[in-house]
Parts: sequence; structure tokens; C-alpha cells
Amino acid sequence: MKSMPPIDLRSDTVTQPTAAMRAAMLEAPLGDDVFGDDPTVNRLQSRIADMLGFEAALFMPSGTQSNLCALLSHCERGDEGIVGQFAHTYRWEGGGAAVFGSIQPQPLAHQADGTLALADIEANIKPDDSHFARSRLLCLENTLGGQVMPLAYLRQATALARRHGLAAHLDGARLFNAAVASGGDARIAAREIAACFDSVSVCFSKGLGAPVGSALCGSKALIAKAHRVRKMAGGGMRQAGVLAAAALHALDHHIDRLAEDHAHAMQLAAGLQGLPGVCVEPPQTNIVFVDVAPERVKRDGKGIVERAREQGLLCTGLLRLRFVTHLDVSRSDIDNAVGILRGIL
Ligand SMILES: *Cc1c(COP(=O)(O)O)cnc(C)c1O
Repeated sequence: MKSMPPIDLRSDTVTQPTAAMRAAMLEAPLGDDVFGDDPTVNRLQSRIADMLGFEAALFMPSGTQSNLCALLSHCERGDEGIVGQFAHTYRWEGGGAAVFGSIQPQPLAHQADGTLALADIEANIKPDDSHFARSRLLCLENTLGGQVMPLAYLRQATALARRHGLAAHLDGARLFNAAVASGGDARIAAREIAACFDSVSVCFSKGLGAPVGSALCGSKALIAKAHRVRKMAGGGMRQAGVLAAAALHALDHHIDRLAEDHAHAMQLAAGLQGLPGVCVEPPQTNIVFVDVAPERVKRDGKGIVERAREQGLLCTGLLRLRFVTHLDVSRSDIDNAVGILRGIL
């Protein structure tokens, strides 16, 4: 085991570009994208905008910058965004929207299924009164910690936001995982989800397996604003077509295969089910959470993550372990991972 490369279930961001993806990157025609001259970036931007039913899109170096540009394009200083307590844009992006945009977050507690209760959203939309920040945006996430937000809920929540004059942004870092999990045509499902929102951010660097990159989709006017913010954030990239080519390749070849990652997550969950002191959350997509009773976590002063690493399995967490399946993990890797974890637990 030890001489083999580790089984890396820390994140779906760890994938290496496939040989075919590298070939596509090598062959891509390039230009200076700050001058708007990179044909491959331009092709990717129109492709993802068309796929998700938007007028325009902008290639971004990261999902964090994509969300930041979205928030700063929707909101002015002193505006407020309603967001889930565990949302990436609120919890995992260094407070960027507040730091760079003076945008005040209004975090709400999630329901067990990850949604924000419609009543909570409505109760937190502030009246037009000088005491309050201006409620301007509802920001949702799909998938959220691997959970799929039901389409009917997305429609209701965004319609509610609109009735109150708020715009709606989706952090769809794993939008295509949600779309594939719907079981139907993933492209149609992705478009239906996106149709609820004024803007959508998607990551190519997660389950889709590209090395770098995200896209922000929206109206022409919104994307024009986002373009300026991206420049301010230092996200204007030059011959970025070498990266956009990887994203295009991912859109052509890596969407439907996300179903394999979901099957592997189920396989892992099934393999760990029933161990004493261990509670496995049944996965909906490619992320498995495993809660471990505190008394089972440490042995010889070492936590589970550390002991797993010694045996060639990488994961994250402490009492709540997280395993993420992806392109570079096979069925037999999952069998091995289950063996290692059963031994430890
Ligand atoms: C990974 C992720 C992002 C940010 O992407 P980076 O490219 O790592 O900046 C945003 N939202 C969600 C839900 C994510 O999982």
C-alpha cells in the first residue's frame, strides 16, 4: 500500500488533467484575453452561457473570485445579501464580499435538507427604512455540502426574492453534480436550475476535472460589471485559453461521468455503514460525511485522518470526516479506502 500513490479523497479539486485534456490544452489557439483576443476563452464563455441559458459569461481564475465578482456586481456598499450559515460565499471565502464590497451578509440557519426556510428568508428581507441595510440579493448554493437543493424549492425561493425586488445568485460550484443527480438529461437539468437565477457561478476545477477555472454567467449588463470587478481583483488573465481549453474538454467529456463519482460515494457509504460509533450520512452526490463518536477518534494520540494518511488514504475532518469522490478515484480505490477505514474505526 505505502509505495502506491495515496487515495486522495480530500476534495474533487485534486484531480490531474487527463491525457486527452492535456492534449486539448496544448492545441488550443490562444490570444491575450485582457484584450478580448483569446479565441478559446471566448468559445468557452459563449458555450457555458448558452448551456445555462444566459446572455453572457466570464471565465474566472477561481470560484471564490467568481462569487466575489457576482456579489459586487449585484450589490452596492451598504446592500445586504441573504445567505445560508454554511454557504461557501459566507463561511469559506474570507468574508471577501464584506471586505472588498462593504456588502453585509444576513446569514440564516439551514433546514436539515440544506435549504433556507422560505419564512426565514421573507422575515429577513428588510423594509425600505434608513435603519436597515438594503436587502438586495439572495445567494443560494447547489449542491451544498453534496446535498441537492430540490428544483421546486429553488423556484419558490427565487420567486420570493424577486417579489421583494431582490436578485438571486447561485453558487453552483457543483451545479453539474446536482444536475446529474436528478437522473434525467444533465444538460436540461442544469439549465432548469440556472433558469431560477440572475447569475450562476460554476467551477470547472471540481468534479469536472479541469486544473483551474470557473465561470460566472448572467445578463450582458451584469457580466460587464463583473468584468470590471474581475480586473480590480487582478483576475484578468492573458493567454488563458490554455485553461479554457481544459474547461471546454471537461464540458464535452466529464459531465455524465459524474454519475460514477456519485456511485463511488454510495459504495464508500455502504462500506462504512453499521460500524459501532460511526454514523454515515447517505450521500446524494460525491461527498460523504461520516460522524465518529468522540471516544473513537483518537488512538495512541493520533486522529483518524492521521492514521488513514499513514495507510495511504487522504481525507479531512475530525469528529465529522469528509470524503469526496472524483475522476481520479476508481472502484477498487474505494474498496481499499473502505478496508483502511474499517481497520481504523
Ligand atoms: C470550491 C467552492 C467554491 C470556490 O472555488 P475555488 O475555486 O476553490 O475558489 C465556491 N463555492 C463552493 C460551494 C465550492 O465548493
